[in-house]
Amino acid sequence: EDYLSRLHETEPHVKSFLYVSEKALEEAAELDRKLGNNEEVGPLAGVPIAVKDNLCTHDMPSTGGSRILEGYRPPYDATAVRKLREAGAVLLGKTNLDEFGMGSSTEGSAFQVTSNPWDLSRVPGGSSGGSAAAVAARQCAAALGTDTGGSIRQPASFCGVVGLKPTYGRVSRFGLMAYASSLDVIGCLASSVLDTAILLSVMAGEDKSDATSSKKDVPTYAASLLPLNLASSKPFEGLKFGIILETIGEGVNDGVLSLIRDAALHIEALGATVTEVSLPTFSKGLPAYYVLAPAEASSNLARYDGVRFGFRADGDELVSMYGQSRGQGFGLEVKRRILMGTYALSAGYYEAFYRRSQQVRTLIQKDFRTALEENDVLLSPVAPTAAFKIGEKANDPLGMYVGDLMTVNVNLAGLPALVVPCGLTEGGRHGLPVGLQMIGNAFEEGKLLRLGHLFE
Ligand code: GLN
Repeated sequence: EDYLSRLHETEPHVKSFLYVSEKALEEAAELDRKLGNNEEVGPLAGVPIAVKDNLCTHDMPSTGGSRILEGYRPPYDATAVRKLREAGAVLLGKTNLDEFGMGSSTEGSAFQVTSNPWDLSRVPGGSSGGSAAAVAARQCAAALGTDTGGSIRQPASFCGVVGLKPTYGRVSRFGLMAYASSLDVIGCLASSVLDTAILLSVMAGEDKSDATSSKKDVPTYAASLLPLNLASSKPFEGLKFGIILETIGEGVNDGVLSLIRDAALHIEALGATVTEVSLPTFSKGLPAYYVLAPAEASSNLARYDGVRFGFRADGDELVSMYGQSRGQGFGLEVKRRILMGTYALSAGYYEAFYRRSQQVRTLIQKDFRTALEENDVLLSPVAPTAAFKIGEKANDPLGMYVGDLMTVNVNLAGLPALVVPCGLTEGGRHGLPVGLQMIGNAFEEGKLLRLGHLFE
């Protein structure tokens, strides 16, 4: 009741939800009844959670932020959603996003623009902007997001919440509307690292419905946070952190840089050594990502043809009906990505763009491997600036893409990354939040969460 009343009070200003559940209180009452009868309930019993709208929910519309799926109701839950429900979570609704996850501000939603709760004239980031804003505005206890090139981490940074992008394959993608299948990951946004750890243990694990989900055991992440020796003044003793040199140079806002440097000093004060580490091919990641992600998207989005799902335009002839449905159903940015992707994959250009980008991807993976042999964790800002104004980059796609340069490489390498708030920079009435990105080796979520918990 508390969360719902807060949601209804703040939603006219924040606009983070595309759909609010009508059954949440009923589901909560059912859990109360079970508790009253001493029946078993799961570890998330009664925890109010919001879900990004590109994740399928059988009892709520799932639009992916696109007109082409307006009103679409999937026949099943995404595995991550099903697991949360089985653990007792109560779903409060579906959150806004850039259409199919393509964007960095949530302005690319076909339905509404979400505001950053810290300053309503600014974007919450994207594409999981609705989820980040909902957590920041305390409309829910935590929210699911998805991250193909930064879509959990950048909104977490802009909204001052914790965000985790797990290792590729740690969480099943079954029921996630595919954007770029080799990069897509489901993760979460929450108000603490501990909450994040609890959610990850519930969501992670092998799933027969997703052949890329990992068979690796799922640790009880939260348990490993609790026995910390908080009495020790140097809990990071012996650890090596490396700040990625290529992310703290020119083009990064001074306020952001000074908060990252303060965070590094704080980490040193906890006993670790912090040095700068260079990843020589770092700057090639962004162009490679903007070839590979649209290439995969152009193929994944071929399924929206007006026949199988959602919206269908009028037209009595099949091919023109396909064209009309896609023409009217997709927004501008999605069309731009489909064009870029099909171009990059077309005969004659494939070698020059797609193949070459795959080669860059391998180099980026190698760079990370080397840097993580010498360092326990890599650090970087999440984005070059704090939250920008609504409309500021709306007509500047390239400017929007450039803002992703600190996050996309992590997806190209499939690694886990945790974002924890590290302070406020100037802007708005209350200052604007900035997050610190901590990157680890594959399947080292436990380590990131432990260190993030001590840092926050
Ligand atoms: N902003 C990036 C893009 O538009 C990343 C989006 C995401 O992670 N879904 O592709």
